[in-house]
Amino acid sequence: MDRSTKIVATIGPASSDLATLTRMVCAGVNVVRLNFSHGKAQDHSDRARLVREAAADCGCEVAIMADLQGPKIRVGKFEHGKILLEAGAKFVLDAECELGNEQQVGLDYKELPRDLKPGDILLLNDGLIVLVVDAVVGSAIHTTVKIGGELSNNKGINRQGGGLSAPALTAKDMEDIKTAVALGADYIAVSFPKNASDMIMARQLANIAGEPQQRKLLMIAKIERAEAIPLLQEILDASDGIMVARGDLAVEVGNAAVPALQKRMIKMARASNKLAITATQMMESMIVNAVPTRAEVSDVANAVLDGTDAVMASAETASGKYPVETVEAMAAICLEAEKADVCKLDTDFLNASFSRIDQSIAYGALFTAYHLRVKAIVALTESGSTTLWMSRHSIDIPIYALTPSIATLRKSALYRNVRSFELVQSGESKDVLQAAQNLLLEKHVVRPGDLIVVTWGEPMGQIGGTNSLKIVKVGAH
Ligand code: PEP
Repeated sequence: MDRSTKIVATIGPASSDLATLTRMVCAGVNVVRLNFSHGKAQDHSDRARLVREAAADCGCEVAIMADLQGPKIRVGKFEHGKILLEAGAKFVLDAECELGNEQQVGLDYKELPRDLKPGDILLLNDGLIVLVVDAVVGSAIHTTVKIGGELSNNKGINRQGGGLSAPALTAKDMEDIKTAVALGADYIAVSFPKNASDMIMARQLANIAGEPQQRKLLMIAKIERAEAIPLLQEILDASDGIMVARGDLAVEVGNAAVPALQKRMIKMARASNKLAITATQMMESMIVNAVPTRAEVSDVANAVLDGTDAVMASAETASGKYPVETVEAMAAICLEAEKADVCKLDTDFLNASFSRIDQSIAYGALFTAYHLRVKAIVALTESGSTTLWMSRHSIDIPIYALTPSIATLRKSALYRNVRSFELVQSGESKDVLQAAQNLLLEKHVVRPGDLIVVTWGEPMGQIGGTNSLKIVKVGAH
């Protein structure tokens, strides 16, 4: 309850039973990631149902994020499942090859030869194997192995420096967007977007699929292509948030460039009033070990200090031996890191000018809460925008979103330092304000006599209508 930084956990074979999932949610999972690179539509729908059940058992709201596979380029299958590539050996990638061996392997992206020229570096299996392109002859890419190793079926291929032409949304992704909407996902993570247009297209498809139920999913751009970096601002403008997808990104831009990029991306996301998730290999050793390494502890803590909304577990919770322990460890690290001085209010908004009344109220609430040292900031909100604006600035005072909207409750699960509770808001504002205090007393987050800052819209019940701010001394229930 006290933790501000949220935890995204990918679920898979190690965590798709109700008992494990419930333990994970109770240990602190705020967002469950369904990885559409694996499994069928029915598997994802079944898992989504389990997530809702586990959340109900734990008495909290959990958001569901559908992570699209995207145009990950992969080698085909091998006669014997895998091969060993020796440094210096010649190796051919050819879409026409059906079953691979030590000399050649197939490809799932026929256009790849057109994107390559001699001297290009190809990184396979997350960069563990390195090939140098010697020549492209028709559909065949002739290479020399620079760094060898074991290569098994369907491993990914990246070009160092990026620049592969594959479009961000594949036909499978377009179908998966419909599945994501149908199973009640709250977020869609778009893999490998190159620019804002990719995000706009994904959003349009999600909006069309969600129209019958008037549902609008939030769109997360996974930043994992080199060419997305110079276009980060336009991608942010077209998205609701970004994921620092360090796995593929590191392969394209080089490992060493990623930590500084992570800091820049999180800073830009917050300054643009967008969300940020830090992902990949955060607790990698916990796939097999019950405790993280010192370096992993520091990695999670540093993401918290960078201002990330959430830290993410991938294989650790999807297929690892310790999914629950991973969540427990992440939660404990976040809590401790949040005590650092850098988590005090940052005042970078003080010089900003606002065109919106609701946004001005949000920042007014932050400023007042900080200087009066109140117990909590409480936003009576329909859409959650007020709490999103507030949560873009670090403050060591909890923000509560009280909302009648289940969609807002769930999507707020990803916002840093925002906790949300359901509250019906109709009638006179004085009655709703009293109901809000009663709810917070019931949840034991305030006590009689505590000061809180409350924001709301007068008249009540309108989206974007926040225009009021009040300092309230909590009365007895
Ligand atoms: C990544 O590349 O870091 C990432 C999160 O993407 P995925 O796990 O979907 O490959």
